[in-house]
Amino acid sequence: MNIKFEEREELKEKIKDVNNLGFGQYFTDYMFLMNYDEDTGWHDARIVPYDNISLPPSAMCLHYGQTIFEGLKAYRNGDKVFLFRPDENFKRMNRSNDRLCIPPIDEEFMVEALKKLIDLERDWIPDSKEASLYIRPFVIAIDPKLGVHPSGSYLLMIILSPSGPYYKDGLAPIKIYVEDKYVRTVKGGLGTAKAGGNYAASLKSQVEAEEKGFSQVLWIDGVNRKYIEEVGSMNIFFVTEDEIMTPELSGSILPGITRKSIIELLKSEGKKVVERRISIEEILTLHKEGKLLEIFGTGTAAVISPVGELFYEGTEIIVNNGEIGEISNYLYNELTDIQWGRKKGPEGWQV
Ligand code: PMP
Repeated sequence: MNIKFEEREELKEKIKDVNNLGFGQYFTDYMFLMNYDEDTGWHDARIVPYDNISLPPSAMCLHYGQTIFEGLKAYRNGDKVFLFRPDENFKRMNRSNDRLCIPPIDEEFMVEALKKLIDLERDWIPDSKEASLYIRPFVIAIDPKLGVHPSGSYLLMIILSPSGPYYKDGLAPIKIYVEDKYVRTVKGGLGTAKAGGNYAASLKSQVEAEEKGFSQVLWIDGVNRKYIEEVGSMNIFFVTEDEIMTPELSGSILPGITRKSIIELLKSEGKKVVERRISIEEILTLHKEGKLLEIFGTGTAAVISPVGELFYEGTEIIVNNGEIGEISNYLYNELTDIQWGRKKGPEGWQV
């Protein structure tokens, strides 16, 4: 499919101080759009000036949450620009599409379209070892109808946001509240999809955890209220003397691309990584016995987020004296070196 281009009359001023970019607050000059309708399929791929879009108040996405999204980054290293496994994001987008009855996209075409957009916007990618250009592809249902059924028309968009370093002062351990009241999703629900509704379901829990002084929540499965799932926008790993373990993809967890990459990296180095059901009780016991060495979260935003404290039903678990663990530190450096192209990564990871 051909991608049309509409040029802006005037480019915006770029933000010079990357340390004040924050996350997702500024947007670049252009965006990518593509429409779907039942007669023509996906069509009218175009790169146009970033601007407001117009929707009828009856647009279905505004009522029933038939929306999905993705998140990845572009990294600058001198004149070179890298994407990290973008094919995985569009694969996951199609899995989300399927779960929400949104028609599939051509993954290869989307990677090419993204490359074109990023190339056009390369001057917006922060020249920094920590800041990057956040990429947000998403799809919304746009039929102007109020009946509850899948929309017949959709709009796919990619917007770009230069974003500052996640850690301004270096890798820092976080405090996590183990959620004992709210449920994010259950097996069979939307949890494995990157659907807007999952994040709507998480807001109240996040607000209450922040009020108690925690930065994120750890979700426990909604049925048994026993097994560990994932953190707000990260997957989670536990390090013991014998192995590194992470909850299996049980049908309610988002299959993170960072999670997958970490597992592949560790395995390629001969480390023992297991994906299985992990109960919160097991973690409490390991901690009591002094066998829990590290906990860390993994996700596009922070890459690796060491956990310094877990709080579960009145019990405080201090992990590794609240300090950054050896494995967390190693993985953070290894993965960011690959993402920024400072080191050659496995085949296909650096695009
Ligand atoms: N879980 C959830 C709920 C998330 O929103 C994210 C961020 N996309 C992740 C895990 C981590 O996924 P990834 O490594 O692909 O960023």
